Amino acid sequence: MSTVNGGISFWYAQEGASAPREPLPGDTAADVCIVGGGYTGLWTAYYLKKAVPFLNITVLEAKFCGYGASGRNGGWLYNGIAGRDRYAKLHGHEAAVRLQQAMNATVAEVVDVCEREKIDADVHRGGVLEVALSPAQLTRLKDFHTVEIAFGETDRVLYGARETAGRVRVTGAVGSSWTPHGARLHPVKLVKGLAAAVEALGVTIHESTPVTEIRPKHAVTPYGTVRAPYVLRCTEGFTASLAGQRRTWLPMNSSMIATEPLTDAQWESIGWEGRETLGDMAHAYMYAQRTADGRIALGGRGVPYRFGSKTDNDGRTQARTVEALREILVRFFPQLAGVRIDHAWSGVLGVPRDWCATVTLDRSTGLGWAGGYVGSGVATANLAARTLRDLIQQDSGQSGPTDLTTLPWVDHKVRKWEPEPLRWLGVQTMYAAFRGADRREALGHSARTDRVAVLANRLSGR
Ligand SMILES: Cc1cc2nc3c(=O)[nH]c(=O)nc-3n(C[C@H](O)[C@H](O)[C@H](O)COP(=O)(O)OP(=O)(O)OC[C@H]3O[C@@H](n4cnc5c(N)ncnc54)[C@H](O)[C@@H]3O)c2cc1C
Repeated sequence: MSTVNGGISFWYAQEGASAPREPLPGDTAADVCIVGGGYTGLWTAYYLKKAVPFLNITVLEAKFCGYGASGRNGGWLYNGIAGRDRYAKLHGHEAAVRLQQAMNATVAEVVDVCEREKIDADVHRGGVLEVALSPAQLTRLKDFHTVEIAFGETDRVLYGARETAGRVRVTGAVGSSWTPHGARLHPVKLVKGLAAAVEALGVTIHESTPVTEIRPKHAVTPYGTVRAPYVLRCTEGFTASLAGQRRTWLPMNSSMIATEPLTDAQWESIGWEGRETLGDMAHAYMYAQRTADGRIALGGRGVPYRFGSKTDNDGRTQARTVEALREILVRFFPQLAGVRIDHAWSGVLGVPRDWCATVTLDRSTGLGWAGGYVGSGVATANLAARTLRDLIQQDSGQSGPTDLTTLPWVDHKVRKWEPEPLRWLGVQTMYAAFRGADRREALGHSARTDRVAVLANRLSGR
């Protein structure tokens, strides 16, 4: 059997999409209109409707719920949030600690809601294991570990080579850092379950309904306009396709492969009984999970960005990216050299110019948005949604400021990306620098981070 390429994702091939929902039938009105049916849009609908059951909420989705990153990701539900360290610089250490604590609690919140709403998303709470494979990666791992503890993660554990192998036998791993604040899940089972839960609460979802323009109190589509006091943009990596948003968030590609189910003997040789989500400390890092049906799903950067902020081909991935991901798999687990790759796919995530996730409600226009999560939106989308709920309730006079509305990522402003071709050149150069740095670090014995990578990080604002 050859590798399936695209088809949105392996997760969809396995689960299938839900029955299509009707497009918007014509002009209509709502209290809140949400653009985008991924985790951000659906969680926001969920929490708003739970808080105020009589609200009339409409979700407009260009294709179908979970078409974007929410139906394609690596299934790492974890407590990382893009921009925390910058928020510490801007708002002080304590504010960033509060943000981190909110993220830790968010992992538990998603797990709890899945249980409450009977969403079986193959959730396994095994934490996150990040491994180092070279002396330079080990230095970064130790620094990272120290920083995370300083941000309040006192339950994080540092392992040496032997203890790491006791969890997952990654060839060449010299150490690892483990946090309990993470879980593995099946992305499509989550997004489908969430869409069904939201509909059961009385939210209207229209699919095959692309919004062409968002302006105060209006979401415009080819089939009609939804008028609403609040219009929320939850379009993440696709934001550039909306009028006026071309340079807001850069659509960064991430690609994945899924192996065939491994045999018991293969699993015995690997370990990974804790089903931790697994990552490394490379500059162009990898991420992986052991799936509920015994495969390895593994992702990495591949071709990082397409000229002109182009997004997607329903998940199709270049052959050389598939090969590069297979090489990482075999480097980690050489005994899997002959293993079949059943599926390869890719998707886009949203990257702001300063790499900081944000959630905003403009009180003067009623326009809101959340995203720019870079590679860590599975949990962050849930925190963003609860924050949008609180911001709307505050704006409509139903409540005052809350613990969430005062977090440092709320109402953060950032400049736009450079016009083309600078944007394309910048991202290509940055990832070429990262890949070169990873190669040199893997071959060398220095415990210091490669200078080119340090420079690339500084210049890119990452
Ligand atoms: C391959 C890959 C692996 C990843 N792995 C992880 C991971 O393991 N852990 C993690 O934390 N994060 C991961 N991420 C990131 C994470 O998946 C995203 O941050 C998260 O799913 C974002 O959710 P969202 O709802 O904001 O955006 P999306 O899921 O992208 O949803 C946006 C939706 O808006 C719709 N839309 C776009 N434009 C319009 C329009 N004009 N009108 C109407 N609808 C529109 C799209 O069709 C889409 O359904 C990964 C991302 C990718 C691509």
